[in-house]
Amino acid sequence: MRLTTMALMVLLSVGSGPASAQNAEWTEPFPPFRIAGNLYYVGSKGLANYLITTPQGHILINSDLEANVPLIRASVEKLGFKFNDIKVLLISHAHWDHNAASATIIKATSAKYMVMDGDVSVVESGGKTDFQYGNTPSNLYPPTKVDRVLHDGDEVKLGDAVLTARLTPGHTKGCTTWTMKVTEGGKSYNVVIVGSPNVNPGYKLVKNTEYPTIAEDYQRMFTVLRSLPCDIFLGAHGDYFGLNAKYPRLTTRGPNPFVDPEGYKRFVSDRDEAFRAELAKQKAGGEKPGLK
Ligand SMILES: [Zn+2]
Repeated sequence: MRLTTMALMVLLSVGSGPASAQNAEWTEPFPPFRIAGNLYYVGSKGLANYLITTPQGHILINSDLEANVPLIRASVEKLGFKFNDIKVLLISHAHWDHNAASATIIKATSAKYMVMDGDVSVVESGGKTDFQYGNTPSNLYPPTKVDRVLHDGDEVKLGDAVLTARLTPGHTKGCTTWTMKVTEGGKSYNVVIVGSPNVNPGYKLVKNTEYPTIAEDYQRMFTVLRSLPCDIFLGAHGDYFGLNAKYPRLTTRGPNPFVDPEGYKRFVSDRDEAFRAELAKQKAGGEKPGLK
């Protein structure tokens, strides 16, 4: 019985990895809320979406799976905004859990789709040119035309909102970390929305013919992440920054739990360490010990 349970747990832990098509928390509703200033959380429990509002319309980060679109719409409306006022759609990176529903959202809102250059072909091929998942049918989605190709450091402006796209590659070739400033109570805060620092199961960091520079790109990403000033720490999934633990601590009085510069530093160090360990393991595995 115990062995069976353990075997099941192993199976579940493999199945719940980023390579699986589904994860129950991805489509589990989460209350929408204002993080700070004009920045709102409109995601599910497992997939993060951010709405940046302006009098000239709104910016949405991530479209998620098709099943998330009604949840995102309901969250935007519950906050008192109009879904149709979304003018710009951005993504954290070109993986189906963050961008499969982009075509649907663009059709509903006429939003302009702006994507980092390294992810453009993946988005426009519906996931087929992805170095890791391009041949996995469950990870493909409707091809979506990109209106503006972004490069590292480019700004996306709408009304008084300015977001900066930082190329943080490795997890995907165009993985994007978004930064912006928000003002709350007369104070300005640096926001960082991490694209993804994770090495997925099955990723080849050594001799990857589909992505020869993957290891250097991860290293470049960690250098960029460490260089970013961060007060408000966010990311593509709630579990990066402890959404479930922080949300109940958000009150109108007292410190904002999402202001967490130390948590950001710890997260970046922890992920960098995990990357280095995996790289060392793969390098060692690729050599034949004892043979020259
Ligand atoms: Zn991903």
